[in-house]
Amino acid sequence: MNLFELLAGEDNHLALVTPSERSLTYKQLRENIVGLVSQLNSFGLKRGERIAIAMTNGSPMAITFLAVALCGTAAPLNPKYKQEEFAFYYEDIQAKALITLSESPKAAIAAVTPDMMLINAKVNTDGTLSFELVKTGSEPAESSNPAAPNADDLAMILHTSGTTSRPKRVPIRHRNLIASAGNIIGAYSLTAADTTLCLMPLFHIHGLVGCLLATLASGGTLICPNGFNALEFWKLVDTYKPTWYSAAPTMHQTILARASRNTEIVKANRFRFIRSSSAPLPPIIIEQLEATLNAPVVESYSMTEASHLMTTNPLPPKVRKLGTVGYGFGVEVGIMDSEGNLLSQGSLGEVVVKAPNVIDGYENNPEANATAFVNGWFRTGDQGTLDADGYLRLTGRIKELINRGGEKISPLEVDDVLLRHPAVAEALAFAVPHKSLGEDIHAAVVLKAEVSEKELLAYCSTMLADFKVPKQIHILDQLPRGATGKLQRLAMAKLLNIG
Ligand code: ATP
Ligand code: MG
Repeated sequence: MNLFELLAGEDNHLALVTPSERSLTYKQLRENIVGLVSQLNSFGLKRGERIAIAMTNGSPMAITFLAVALCGTAAPLNPKYKQEEFAFYYEDIQAKALITLSESPKAAIAAVTPDMMLINAKVNTDGTLSFELVKTGSEPAESSNPAAPNADDLAMILHTSGTTSRPKRVPIRHRNLIASAGNIIGAYSLTAADTTLCLMPLFHIHGLVGCLLATLASGGTLICPNGFNALEFWKLVDTYKPTWYSAAPTMHQTILARASRNTEIVKANRFRFIRSSSAPLPPIIIEQLEATLNAPVVESYSMTEASHLMTTNPLPPKVRKLGTVGYGFGVEVGIMDSEGNLLSQGSLGEVVVKAPNVIDGYENNPEANATAFVNGWFRTGDQGTLDADGYLRLTGRIKELINRGGEKISPLEVDDVLLRHPAVAEALAFAVPHKSLGEDIHAAVVLKAEVSEKELLAYCSTMLADFKVPKQIHILDQLPRGATGKLQRLAMAKLLNIG
């Protein structure tokens, strides 16, 4: 099986909707993909070759991704990268070609090497896409007509988000993606009657699998705007009546902040469910989201190496446990100590997973593979515990845990306490170097009402054991985030010039 066979919709059902373009039915989508794959083959591109895609979100990006994954290996890149970053990624993945939309972004085009092909995608009047070969590579390529890919073929190559170290190269096969999309459909009972609002970027696993593939594999409709915009969000909800959306925590916070100005739309549109993934969603935000939007919020735990989904809380009437990321769907979850032994239920240790959606290994990275893959398990780098029902409680990334003179502090717990203060909009606890303790704890906050550092410190003292109370709280205008909205906890001490 491959991604083409995964497209489950009825011919006349809407598959892709982008507000600025004509919408596409499943029939149009299938025919368009077949045509684009043969165009790529006629340019000389074939299986095994890496094809970079730099496009803003929308149906054209979705169609291009599918066509490229069926011809060669798709490498979706963040269209906001600078020229030097594009150059790095082309070299790193050995890109054979770049595909852009309407000759944009310029930085991606400027970084194309003489060896690479440059292809431009154009939207036709009926909403379908055509490719044009702008520039050939230095070697003449011969037109080919290979067989369709099978489940073991590479569909795409992505990099991890680079939150804790240099981004690692993650090769993902058709079978990994199919397993992950199937788990998502099963977890949330997605059907052709569902309409998904895609807010996540399609150059990240959450957008590609959690939104795009899960929707197309269930025969539903994907609303795919050109990016996330808090103002536009409520208009899209009003126009398209999506049954659910999936987003990273920061987006939920932005949506929540504007909900009070859109009470009529909120009242008229009740989501079947709201999903959060990619980073920790503080329990207080879940409570506020549910109270304001009147829909169940499910938190899911995901990563690039698992082709997205690992665990999720289920939908009601099954039990959701606040403060946990639910249990494995098609994924076995264990807890391991640093020596590679599996621990008993209730013990704190590293979260490990085993599943058909987990990759076989990083590309060209024997050291990372030797540490990450142990006895058939994949070590996630996250710390947590499993309860008697198999629900996973995450306490943070191992690299981000704060070790204050031997007292281990989960920064997530401190974030949540700070966020419960009525004047705090965003919070991030982090480690700073300390001469005798090794590490001490500080926090940074963004405020939504007036409060002093002294008052916040006093508040923390009433809520947290003394050793967990931040030594200092920095009041900032904004917190540093990566391209997909992840808070950059490890960068904080350096950014604030501490230590
Ligand atoms: P890198 O591996 O390069 O440091 P990254 O881990 O941020 O970057 P991703 O694969 O995008 O790259 O993210 C996976 C990580 O995101 C998980 O290992 C986990 O730390 C975090 N994460 C995802 N979902 C959740 C969640 N619901 N709660 C807490 N953390 C989460
Ligand atoms: Mg990671």
